[in-house]
Amino acid sequence: MNIILLGPPGAGKGTQAHILVDERGMIQLSTGDMLRDAKDSGTEMGKVVADVMARGDLVTDEIVIGLIREKLQGEKGGGFIFDGFPRTLPQADALGELLAECGETLDAVIEMQVDDDALVGRITARSTCAGCGAVYNDVTKPIPADGVCTNCGEAKGFTRRADDNEESLKNRLMEYYKKTSPLIGYYYAKGMLQSVNGLGEIADVKSSIAGALDG
Ligand code: AMP
Repeated sequence: MNIILLGPPGAGKGTQAHILVDERGMIQLSTGDMLRDAKDSGTEMGKVVADVMARGDLVTDEIVIGLIREKLQGEKGGGFIFDGFPRTLPQADALGELLAECGETLDAVIEMQVDDDALVGRITARSTCAGCGAVYNDVTKPIPADGVCTNCGEAKGFTRRADDNEESLKNRLMEYYKKTSPLIGYYYAKGMLQSVNGLGEIADVKSSIAGALDG
């Protein structure tokens, strides 16, 4: 089963994707993670995208479609979770074509609905395990006092994302409403859209997603 997690920054896509990876053996394809890796390892492409990401703008369709194409050719089995991709209509068209080329289908699109007010609070309190990318939140899921990640069991430290600040978030939200939210209608028209309330506890959101996928 191949699915898209769709929603604004801070909706909890990464958190729920990690759960689906752990519990269902699915493969998470996060373009945000791929771009951060490229930036951190100082590749040419990483240098090009660094400023764009820091501002909260979208990276070009060409770059992200290229990243997904590479991954789809390299990974097999388990089912893919597209996390943060597609973010524009051309990306959505390209994903359909890429999946068809690999003999795969898109089975569900889960829209995670969260109020803007909650997003600011979540994002400014967010940190990530440097080892496995598990997401923590100062209020709802604080970093363990012993510094050991409850997900991977390692103590590799926790980082805050450079673009998790109010200024960049404002821009990321504008980009979401202008360029990504049209995908809600796009997938609704294809009969694939399922919307869940992303505001509750992590376990409740997880159950809603399971209901959407299995129900
Ligand atoms: P994320 O980790 O999904 O919040 O993405 C972080 C940043 O990476 C975004 O603010 C964009 O600058 C860039 N990015 C990630 N995915 C995409 C995408 N599908 N299209 C364009 N830019 C993206």
